[in-house]
Amino acid sequence: MPSDMIVIGAGIVGISTALALQSRGRAVLVLDRPDPALKASAMNAGAFAFSDIVPLATPGIMRKAPRWLLDPLGPLSVPPVYALKIAPWMMRFWRASWPDRYRASMKAQASLMRVSQAALTRQVTDASAQHLLQAEGQLQLYEGEREFRASLPGWELRREHGIRFELLETREAIAAYQPGLDPRFTHAAYTPDWTNTCDPARWLSHLRHVFESRGGRCEAEDVLRLVRHEDHIEIMTTNKAVTTRQVVVAAGAWSHRLAASLGDHIPLETERGYNTTLDKGAFDLKTHLTFPAHGFVVTKINGGVRVGGAVELGGLALGPNYRRADILLEKARRFLPDLKTEGGSQWMGFRPSLPDSLPVIGRSPGDGRVLYAFGHGHLGLTQSAGTAELIADLVGGNRPPIDLTAFSASRF
Ligand SMILES: Cc1cc2nc3c(=O)[nH]c(=O)nc-3n(C[C@H](O)[C@H](O)[C@H](O)COP(=O)(O)OP(=O)(O)OC[C@H]3O[C@@H](n4cnc5c(N)ncnc54)[C@H](O)[C@@H]3O)c2cc1C
Repeated sequence: MPSDMIVIGAGIVGISTALALQSRGRAVLVLDRPDPALKASAMNAGAFAFSDIVPLATPGIMRKAPRWLLDPLGPLSVPPVYALKIAPWMMRFWRASWPDRYRASMKAQASLMRVSQAALTRQVTDASAQHLLQAEGQLQLYEGEREFRASLPGWELRREHGIRFELLETREAIAAYQPGLDPRFTHAAYTPDWTNTCDPARWLSHLRHVFESRGGRCEAEDVLRLVRHEDHIEIMTTNKAVTTRQVVVAAGAWSHRLAASLGDHIPLETERGYNTTLDKGAFDLKTHLTFPAHGFVVTKINGGVRVGGAVELGGLALGPNYRRADILLEKARRFLPDLKTEGGSQWMGFRPSLPDSLPVIGRSPGDGRVLYAFGHGHLGLTQSAGTAELIADLVGGNRPPIDLTAFSASRF
């Protein structure tokens, strides 16, 4: 007898989706590989970054990219062995940066953020997760007038989308939000509505616990492919075949492999990111700090500090280059002179990324019984609750509150 609903992937998108489907009366089984270390969801920076609506592919980025790429440890890098492989994705990324496409992506992203913010409030109440949130806002920091002025068009666009922020043009104004910054930071923007979880790993395990305590099941299975049959979908794992009527693929940076088994070819790549987590007492962090010119953030995790970011377009197979995490930490020490950097633990994770910075949310073009929920790039935690509700709407035959055309799997 086929089971009602299977979700592949127990990252934050998969677990949130499983919870949303369960709350609408579905019996859900979640399948995930046995290796929990592979999840981006457990070790990210923990930010619900609802104001981050600006796509990575901004107009003019391809003029800046070569300068970054020439610096092997800069904020954006491509390991030479992966350069040819990533070229088609980079072409699409470049096209996504054309002004009309950039504006369209931003509009779609803003609509998903609105849904996600409202959905998070419902998820927090439903799962009694308030104790895992810290609402301390965010500071984006600029070194000098020039960098600040260059950021203003982006802030103006955020204003158009209803995002609240305060521009700070003196060191004193910045210090009122975060003392202890290097004086090179003369300007900043503060976003008061920014919220973090105190630990993404605890956030994920809490939601999974809620799902399981309500009768949801999770099984350790490595899924190889999906096979279509007239009256069911067969999920082939390394151990067995499982049948179901509907399936959600929420397998993060690996999702395109499963989609390919249905004939859907989706240009999903991974933007690998790095971080170092320092124990309590490393720094008295008052708010989430973002250093946009350097591509990293400093954030409070379990009372300690996590320093992380960077984009390495290096695929799923290459081993980590932890020199990248060292570089971020060295920069953080320069920017926060009192930061105690000893004894940290390092991590590398796979952001699942599409060239236009938008996820895929919707039905497979190859088979409408398969739904896709992946490719959230830098924003998977932020958009997890919203994605979950949208998928639950589609499964339940309800009209989603936003137009999902921009998120369709066939847009490429
Ligand atoms: C350094 C860094 C910092 C970040 N900071 C933030 C942040 O502050 N805020 C934010 O919103 N986002 C952030 N992100 C992005 C965020 O972590 C991801 O977008 C998000 O975790 C993706 O969630 P997911 O559930 O889609 O994927 P994952 O968490 O990767 O989960 C996918 C799951 O699918 C499983 N899976 C894959 N293939 C198969 C298969 N064949 N069979 C069975 N199981 C399979 C994997 O084992 C994995 O558990 C950050 C990412 C990085 C790397």
